[in-house]
Amino acid sequence: MCPLHSDTAQNVELHILTEVTKALITPLGLPELLDVVMDTIADVLETAEFGVIWLWDSSAGLLCPQVVCGPGFPHLQSLRQLRLREGESVAGKVFKDGNAVVFGTPVDVANAMADLRPVNETIWHQGLDSSQRPCSMIAVPLWAGGQKYGVLMLSTLHSSNPFATDDISFIQILADLIALAIERARLETESLALSEAKQADRLRAEALAVLSHELRTPLGAIKGYATALLLEETSWPPEKQHEFLLRIDEECVSLETMIVELLDSSLIDAGQLILEYHPVRLERIAQEVAEEAQHLTSTHEFAVGFPAGFPLIDADPLRIKQVLRNLVNNAIKYSPNGGLVSIQGEIRTTDIVVSIADQGIGIAAENFISLFEKYFRVKTPSEYQIPGTGLGLPMARAIVEAHEGKIWVESKLGEGTIFFFSLPRQGLSSDEEIENG
Ligand code: ADP
Repeated sequence: MCPLHSDTAQNVELHILTEVTKALITPLGLPELLDVVMDTIADVLETAEFGVIWLWDSSAGLLCPQVVCGPGFPHLQSLRQLRLREGESVAGKVFKDGNAVVFGTPVDVANAMADLRPVNETIWHQGLDSSQRPCSMIAVPLWAGGQKYGVLMLSTLHSSNPFATDDISFIQILADLIALAIERARLETESLALSEAKQADRLRAEALAVLSHELRTPLGAIKGYATALLLEETSWPPEKQHEFLLRIDEECVSLETMIVELLDSSLIDAGQLILEYHPVRLERIAQEVAEEAQHLTSTHEFAVGFPAGFPLIDADPLRIKQVLRNLVNNAIKYSPNGGLVSIQGEIRTTDIVVSIADQGIGIAAENFISLFEKYFRVKTPSEYQIPGTGLGLPMARAIVEAHEGKIWVESKLGEGTIFFFSLPRQGLSSDEEIENG
């Protein structure tokens, strides 16, 4: 503890500057850093028995205490609730005018604070009782890079060694160091936000490139088969023509799926996923989806198993069918060697769970979290060039979550995958009207 006015004033200042600079270069976040700096000032500068770092909150248009420091004053932290307008009281005026001020007597301090609004006055009296009125006060602006950040305010409460005009230049140096730390933190936050925005832009551009490629693949095939059929110099046998038409039909379905996923995805982004709730018999929807899927493949088998008495679920039947179709189509797509696709229902106390299991290529655990993010696709080995948009699972999640359900996955590479989704039971009985979309 060193008084500021003494024969060795320069040594004291040097000591304080060294300590504050040491504090300022600690690798801390801004709030913790300012705490440490204020503690250091209070510790080494005897005159500063009580200090506040005020920061300007531009959205609220108010000065707010970021750090309140005064060892030995039990209620001081309640001063954190103070909110000063520009021009109000000591700190408000210093912030407004940008000029440092010093008050050397309790009366001067009281006069300077006389315009404190009643709400702030109450808080002030809660923080400092009548025996703890500031005897002297110094307040300097926190400025850096042409930007006003706030005010550093220091007070003596008992000391017989009040702040004086001579102290301003030194305290302003401390304030400039603090303001530089605030400026550095602001620039770091801005550059982080900028690089995150750039990263998001890059991901969007990459996703668009992948998407246009994925859309072009079926389009190219359609064009190819149609051109072949139209060739005047070639007459195709009827079975070849039929095969080409089948391929065109398949590729159209694939194109349509991708376009629907894209449109639905933008609908969800715009917050326009509207659900039409009806009592739904899930086992019937699952059966329909399995039958549809059987038409798409000859190498897969389908099994649907729901326990007896499976409850009716209050849900949007079309959207739930979309989720099931999506998961079942994925089960087919990602098990290129065929196998069993099993759709099972389970009744739990407050919800039901539907699982879709396949015996396909599986998913490595490190990809589980990203699976439900838009445009994410696992990088599959080149022998499995499986088309897709990376929008199916995010869509399924958005629909399930809109129903207040959950969706999750279990999988083992090379063995297969099980997707699960749950939906709340919401107390429907099986006698109620049934709709299965
Ligand atoms: P898409 O299938 O159009 O790529 P999805 O959002 O439906 O998009 O799926 C995202 C990724 O999750 C897929 O690219 C695939 O890598 C992986 N995936 C989804 N379902 C399965 C599954 N049943 N088995 C293995 N991988 C799967």
